[in-house]
This record gives sequence, C-alpha cells and structure tokens, in this order.
Amino acid sequence: MVKRIKNLENHCYKCKKKVLVKYVYPKRKYSDKNNWGWWTEKEENKNKYICDNCLSNLFHKKKSEYLENVNNNTKRATMRNYMCKLREIH
Ligand SMILES: [Zn+2]
Repeated sequence: MVKRIKNLENHCYKCKKKVLVKYVYPKRKYSDKNNWGWWTEKEENKNKYICDNCLSNLFHKKKSEYLENVNNNTKRATMRNYMCKLREIH
C-alpha cells in the first residue's frame, strides 16, 4: 500500500494567497512548480512560494522581471510548457 503524503500549504510571496504544493509520487518529492527558489536558483528565494496566477502574470506580463530572475534555460523551457498546460486547465 502506498502511504499518503500530505500536500504542503504555503503562501504566495507576492499576493499572500494560499498555495497548495502537491506531493508528486512518481518523483518522490514535492512539486517544484510553485517553488520560486527552484525557478530562480537563488538562495534568497529558497523558501518562497508563488501561486499559479502570479507565476502566469510574471511570465506573460512582466517578462523583464521574469527573465531577470529565471536564468536557467532548461527551466525557462519547463516554464513555457507549464504555462501551456495552465492555459488548457483554466
Ligand atoms: Zn500569488
């Protein structure tokens, strides 16, 4: 039997709304998608979380801020995919 692991509750560092961080079983770790530190790879962002709305807003409307913070090309590609997926869901 697979043990259920609780989702993490955090707050978006931008809008302060609740962010639910899901546990990804195949990866055996928490999702990185809402972890601002993961995107930016910056020490000062390590424990910052960001909601889908703010992430999307940053990506679509604040491109310079986004590009300044997210430098890793692989992660930029991941972000583009994620943004496409988000559009399909909403
Ligand atoms: Zn937010």
